[in-house]
Amino acid sequence: MALKQRLLVVKFLACSAILLFYAGMVGSQENNSFKSEADLVQFIETMRHQQVTNPIQITEQISPLIRLSLRKNWNKAFLYCSSLKLESLLEQDRPGEANDILLEILPLAEQANESTVLTRLIVAKVRIGYAMGRTEKFSELIRELETKLTSLELPQEIGEVYLALGESQYDVFNYSKAIQSMKSAYEAFELAGDVAMQGVVMSSLANIYVDIGDIELGLEYFDKSLEIALSIDDKFGQSIILFNKANAYFYSDQIDKAEETLSKAIKISREIDDPVGVAWAQLSVAEIAVDQENWIKAIELYKKTNKVFEETGDIRSQYKALIGQAKAYLGLEDLENAQLNLAKAKILLESVDDYSNASAYNSLMSRIEYTLENYQSAYDYLEKTLKIQNALHKQEQQQEAQKYKVQFDTQIKENQNQILSQKILLNDLRIKQQDERQRIWWLAIILGVVVLVFVLALLVIQTRNRNRFRSLAMRDHLTNSPNRRAVLVHAKERFKEASCEGLTLTLAIVDLDNFKRINDEYGHEVGDQVLVKFAQACDATLRKQDGYGRYGGEEWLLVFTDTNSEHIKLIFQRLRSALNSKPTEFPYEHEITFSMGVAQYDSKLDKNVNSIIKRADDKLYQAKEQGRDRVVF
Ligand code: GH3
Ligand code: MG
Ligand code: MG
Repeated sequence: MALKQRLLVVKFLACSAILLFYAGMVGSQENNSFKSEADLVQFIETMRHQQVTNPIQITEQISPLIRLSLRKNWNKAFLYCSSLKLESLLEQDRPGEANDILLEILPLAEQANESTVLTRLIVAKVRIGYAMGRTEKFSELIRELETKLTSLELPQEIGEVYLALGESQYDVFNYSKAIQSMKSAYEAFELAGDVAMQGVVMSSLANIYVDIGDIELGLEYFDKSLEIALSIDDKFGQSIILFNKANAYFYSDQIDKAEETLSKAIKISREIDDPVGVAWAQLSVAEIAVDQENWIKAIELYKKTNKVFEETGDIRSQYKALIGQAKAYLGLEDLENAQLNLAKAKILLESVDDYSNASAYNSLMSRIEYTLENYQSAYDYLEKTLKIQNALHKQEQQQEAQKYKVQFDTQIKENQNQILSQKILLNDLRIKQQDERQRIWWLAIILGVVVLVFVLALLVIQTRNRNRFRSLAMRDHLTNSPNRRAVLVHAKERFKEASCEGLTLTLAIVDLDNFKRINDEYGHEVGDQVLVKFAQACDATLRKQDGYGRYGGEEWLLVFTDTNSEHIKLIFQRLRSALNSKPTEFPYEHEITFSMGVAQYDSKLDKNVNSIIKRADDKLYQAKEQGRDRVVF
């Protein structure tokens, strides 16, 4: 058994401060506080869109405004006021009164071509049709709503029409289209910034999901819409959502939770003085009581609620209460009262043209006739019941199939979404990975370049240092000529060549004459300059292949290859003149002379360079002895 869902229609929220303000405005309008029709229309629109009060209060407050419009002959204002009253009645589940207003103002709105009012009236027509059990015209109404959608521009209006469309589609069991419409409605209200209506849509979506068996998702949506209703202190909305949530619990056999939630809904409905809300919730409590064979409690509740539904013209609920009572009386074996209620229900049945209702009636009638031992009649009712149930079964099968399709579609869509989001995630990751890899590459390249530059710099520095050290090690720091070690290395290399290849090698030792005297008379620095001058003279005079170097203080070793004594004499002369071609500023103006001892490599005598040097040194000594400034071989 299923409880009936209650629709959350246009949202009105109670806010005491603003309510007082409007109450003041409404009260003073009798004193003609609305100077023009436009003022009044704007006031009504503000009232509707700001949703300042609950529908019960709106219904009360709007009547003087309707009278004012009539008195002033303000046609447009009259239409706006009346359609708002209609909507507030509908929200209180008073479809009978709402229908009266609809019949009155629809032709006027068409005549005046009031587009906004007409849209609201089409939406209202759908809801009234449902509440009054006239679903046969739904496909026509759905088409009307769809046509209307194409001409709308305001997101608020689009949202309202989509919501009504979704509800109509849901009422004729077109679940997937209903969900689509609800989602469009949600988007439109989101665009319009209407949070309250977003809550309404979520509550409707919740109902649909519960109906297609996705209780979990349904409850989730109920909680979301309840959250919104709580945040805007919309007690009326809270009571309806709680009612529908109880429904979901009932569907999923969570009877305790259903009862608990219903009592919460009743409490809130009483708080805001909404007898219809109380009646709806009590009707559900009664149905639970029937389910638990708590007959007395059920009858008592049905009686209470039926009074309210008679007042509001809610035929479906009346029928439901009558059938429920009949069932309870049957449970108590009170045939008379059961028949009485069924007779009343039969009258309503013509207006409530749905299979499940007819089935309940016929089945109960069959039970009564059976008890009365009218077997033929019982059989006939049972046959009717079976026929209806067969048809119902077929319808349910179709609905079931549709539910599965919707579930399947939703699942596929969700899977697709999941796949898509995973793909996006994956792509994102891949891009990030590529970025990361690229960054690492760049870092590696930069690092590589830095290391390379560093290593190169190090190499250059090292090479330069090594060269410097080598040159430092091989050069005489005063004259910058090869030092003793360097000239000896050179002499040894030449010695090797001479000993292996039979080339000539001649060594000469040179010693500056009376150098001590230069130092003594002119100072050590001048002596230094003379030494530098001698090095320069060697550099300028000697051939490339000849070597020289500072052998000691003012002693020099000269190394000649491929030469003879004539050539040496020539070199001696050249060196001497180069040494004395001094610039005028040179501090030592006297002739500088030197002595030279020369020895040639003799393979028989010389096992190494030193022996040649020794002989050259002997010759130098002879040169000194012979009076200096000469070369001795
Ligand atoms: P001789 O003709 O016999 O060679 O006479 P001499 O004065 O050159 O005799 P000796 O070889 O004894 O003197 C060499 C002097 O050279 C001694 C030393 O003070 C000087 N001397 C050695 N090295 C340097 C140097 O680097 N700079 C200067 N200014 N003098 C040096
Ligand atoms: Mg000397
Ligand atoms: Mg000397």
